Amino acid sequence: MVNYKDLGLVNTREMFKRAVNGGYAIPAFNFNTMEQMQAIVQAAVETKSPVIMQVSKGARNYANATILRYMAEGAVAYAKELGCEHPEIVLHLDHGDSFELCKDCIDMGFSSVMYDGSSLPYEENIRISRQVVEYAHKYDVTVECELGVLAGVEDEVASEVSHYTKPEEVIDFATRTGCDSLAISIGTSHGAYKFKPEQCTRDPKTGRLVPPPLAFDVLAEIEQKLPGFPIVLHGSSSVPQDEVDTINKYGGNLPDAVGIPEEQLRKAAKSAVCKINIDSDSRLAMTAAIRQYLAEHPDHFDPRQYLKPARENMKKMYIHKIVNVLGSDGKLAE
Ligand SMILES: [Zn+2]
Repeated sequence: MVNYKDLGLVNTREMFKRAVNGGYAIPAFNFNTMEQMQAIVQAAVETKSPVIMQVSKGARNYANATILRYMAEGAVAYAKELGCEHPEIVLHLDHGDSFELCKDCIDMGFSSVMYDGSSLPYEENIRISRQVVEYAHKYDVTVECELGVLAGVEDEVASEVSHYTKPEEVIDFATRTGCDSLAISIGTSHGAYKFKPEQCTRDPKTGRLVPPPLAFDVLAEIEQKLPGFPIVLHGSSSVPQDEVDTINKYGGNLPDAVGIPEEQLRKAAKSAVCKINIDSDSRLAMTAAIRQYLAEHPDHFDPRQYLKPARENMKKMYIHKIVNVLGSDGKLAE
């Protein structure tokens, strides 16, 4: 049993409280590799932002949960080495699908876990969420639960269609589970293909797809039912079209990849939404830089040569999100 506090990590409670009151959101970036971890920490330190580093099922399969936990411990030490005296880094389990998995992560030093029972019948979702919360709170670990179903594919989390969160259920759900934050479905979606072309309109000037707007009316109703309660948005990559263009220019093939417009996320960040999950944008930034580098330097073969610009490009993207979309820059606790 390792407590996250001994690793220098923090849970989400205080930072969410400040984010809800301050009208901004905390970035939740997924990580799988050392380069992603370094880019996240560099971006958070340079912008003086709290940050959530999250680990999905795919990340655990790829890198191994134990290694990722040590990388998060390393992230805290690295942030201090970069000059941040009191970094606020959360190690969060993304889409935990069982009590046992959440418990395992808590026992190995995660400071926050998500239990995602959104695909289960309502009462079953409450029962297991409650069980996770009871265990987690013994160790002061915070818990995110989910109501409503997002469309799209994220590692092994996949659904064909989305179901918006029902505002009439949120009070009962939050009260009976005791969760610390609630992930809701208001039209965001997992992956780099968030919407089918037939769900979108096309910008006549650029020919690009314009996705349908988020359901801000549903968000407003949820906020009204649970004033000040931390709300989480999954599937909130914007799928930057310049990265998609770079990928396609250098041999990739991502036709009609489309995400959530950043203005909409900005608007959401100003409400009770205090955690915004971004994964695909980091994948796109990494792949675009690597494709370009390798196309321009066909004689290079040292991974450090192409991972360096990949890391730089991800860092640039993280800083942009923190400063221009979420507004969490300069928000470390005094
Ligand atoms: Zn998600």
